[in-house]
Amino acid sequence: MQEKYCCLCGSNVKSFLPWEAAKDYPFIDLLKCIGSDIINFYCPNCRSTDRDRHLWLYLNKIGVFDALNSETKIMHIAPEAPLISRLLKKTSHIVAGDLFPEKYAHVSYNVQKVDLTDINAQDNYFNLFIANHILEHIIDYKKALKEINRILINSGIAILQTPYSPVIYRNFEDPMINTDELRELYYGQSNHVRVFGIQLFDDIKEAGFNVSYFEHGTILKDIDPNIYGVNAREGLIVAIKNN
Ligand SMILES: [Zn+2]
Repeated sequence: MQEKYCCLCGSNVKSFLPWEAAKDYPFIDLLKCIGSDIINFYCPNCRSTDRDRHLWLYLNKIGVFDALNSETKIMHIAPEAPLISRLLKKTSHIVAGDLFPEKYAHVSYNVQKVDLTDINAQDNYFNLFIANHILEHIIDYKKALKEINRILINSGIAILQTPYSPVIYRNFEDPMINTDELRELYYGQSNHVRVFGIQLFDDIKEAGFNVSYFEHGTILKDIDPNIYGVNAREGLIVAIKNN
């Protein structure tokens, strides 16, 4: 079997490990949802996930990481250790936030409570905002998008990775899908609150952004998704605040 490579810890590994709760999701499959590769999920060495690795590859490829300097102000939501450790080498102006900061008691960096629908930060402040698979957890995500827009400077960049279905326009959610079991069945995870459709991209625009979508097969065509343990169908969603 071909060896795999983790771009975050630089290790060759025999295989990536599945997400512990991975199972079949027929409804999600029907909607052709684009999200994590739950089979080639964790790196057995550094525990990075497929979406951590993919985001790192994308941020490098489009030049976002190289453009960071000691003055860059970043808000990083649900900060993934392998990513934030690299960002911190570039700038100390990072607000790491999560709705449940107590989950980060064991990490070396400070994580503060941030509710994306009511961000405790001034207007026009951050250069870069990163939320990697977060919006699918937020009930009032349109308010969150407006808040993200508010705290960014003009032309500031928001990385807004989230699972979505490319075969439906309207988001799929229903108030009767109200238990962990039903959310898992219909949304793919018990703490997701919807399946986004293509309207996601219009909603991001509506919140005051230009949106770009970078496809793996276009800008990362030299990266074999099987070797790097990433989902080739997952593109990069980049929103740039309108001036
Ligand atoms: Zn690794």
